[in-house]
Amino acid sequence: MAYFFETEEHAALRRSVRRFAEEQLAPYSADWEEAESFPVELYAAAAEAGITGIGYPEEYGGSGGDLSHLIVASEELLLAGRSVGTIVGLGSHSIAVPPILIAGNDEQKQRFIPPVLRGEKICALAVTEPGGGSDVARLRTRAVREGDFYRISGTKTFITSGVRADWVTLAVRTGEEGHGGLSLIVVERGTPGFSVSRALKKTGWWASDTAELMFDDVRVPVENLIGEEGSGFFTMMQNFASERLLLAGQCVAIAELALAESLIWVRQREAFGRPIAGFQVTRHRLAEMATRLRASRAMVNEAVQRTLAGESTAGLAAMTKNTATDMCSFVCDAAVQLHGGYGYMRESLVERLYRDARLYPIGGGTREIMNELIAKMELELG
Ligand SMILES: Cc1cc2nc3c(=O)[nH]c(=O)nc-3n(C[C@H](O)[C@H](O)[C@H](O)COP(=O)(O)OP(=O)(O)OC[C@H]3O[C@@H](n4cnc5c(N)ncnc54)[C@H](O)[C@@H]3O)c2cc1C
Repeated sequence: MAYFFETEEHAALRRSVRRFAEEQLAPYSADWEEAESFPVELYAAAAEAGITGIGYPEEYGGSGGDLSHLIVASEELLLAGRSVGTIVGLGSHSIAVPPILIAGNDEQKQRFIPPVLRGEKICALAVTEPGGGSDVARLRTRAVREGDFYRISGTKTFITSGVRADWVTLAVRTGEEGHGGLSLIVVERGTPGFSVSRALKKTGWWASDTAELMFDDVRVPVENLIGEEGSGFFTMMQNFASERLLLAGQCVAIAELALAESLIWVRQREAFGRPIAGFQVTRHRLAEMATRLRASRAMVNEAVQRTLAGESTAGLAAMTKNTATDMCSFVCDAAVQLHGGYGYMRESLVERLYRDARLYPIGGGTREIMNELIAKMELELG
């Protein structure tokens, strides 16, 4: 099913992304998930197919387009590629690059963005710390200015693509307590003192790497500071609505996949002498799955259109993310139930989707933080 906002251009994008995913992802995706990694060459292959650059300006090597194209492409990658871990790993630039596009100077944009969009470099966004991720304004990684350098010390955790990243967009404290003291700075792999302290094992998203990163007196040139000192929080906030809608779109795609698998299964699986699709409870469960899926798709549709029209959508994006993440958890759980014992086996796709779905009410801002935002922005509760 397509979004209402889609045009013939989106349909063509779907076809080309689907071809890439069917040929280059689907045959291998189950093995990559089990191996908890995908080949690094995939970045170049995705770039060659024009996928990495979707949503980025052509002057920095992108293929143009906007949030709507990103959501549609991400949906096709998930539906045809059948590996959430691979897609989120391949897509870590979608959170690392936007702060540079928003606040970086032209030299920084030219230096950091084109190599990523060509699939030559891998990047990550590092905000969350072991002491807490929700309260971004209180992060503790410190960057102290010393002449032409910043000296950085601290630890980041749960960083997607952190193990393989060639550079990270790092959130640091350069000033006073609170959000006004935060800045963003790019730290490149190989800078003395910057290391991957742990590769983390997870419930789902297995094919993507997730790292704990250590910064031990790392000296980074001031040229790597993105925007003004103290503007980091504001820059991060500017991208949150889009990031959350992208995550909501992923939930819609994952649920679509779980529903499709379930529809195939209930027609072929028999119990008590007939296909389980014949039981009313099965039919009603599938009807509920499809209905909730459609409602989430409608919310993503509205939120994307309003965001692209320039409206402030922080509250609506939070509502959309919560609705889509809960829907996705419900649909994946129902899909496992409909599959019976097979749904609990590692060989079945719905088992993996059920685990992958669990991240979405946590990552990119938790359900509770989204509700806080909704209370403030939509209900004006201060
Ligand atoms: C697989 C994975 C990938 C990730 N990738 C990245 C990445 O690439 N880059 C990055 O920077 N981070 C990343 N994260 C981190 C993610 O953004 C954080 O996990 C998330 O923001 C929550 O932070 P926390 O885990 O520290 O939980 P906490 O902030 O400690 O929250 C714990 C619980 O307390 C609740 N809580 C907190 N504050 C409130 C409040 N005011 N009111 C009510 N309840 C509250 C939370 O909702 C949650 O239920 C990733 C996480 C995972 C699991």
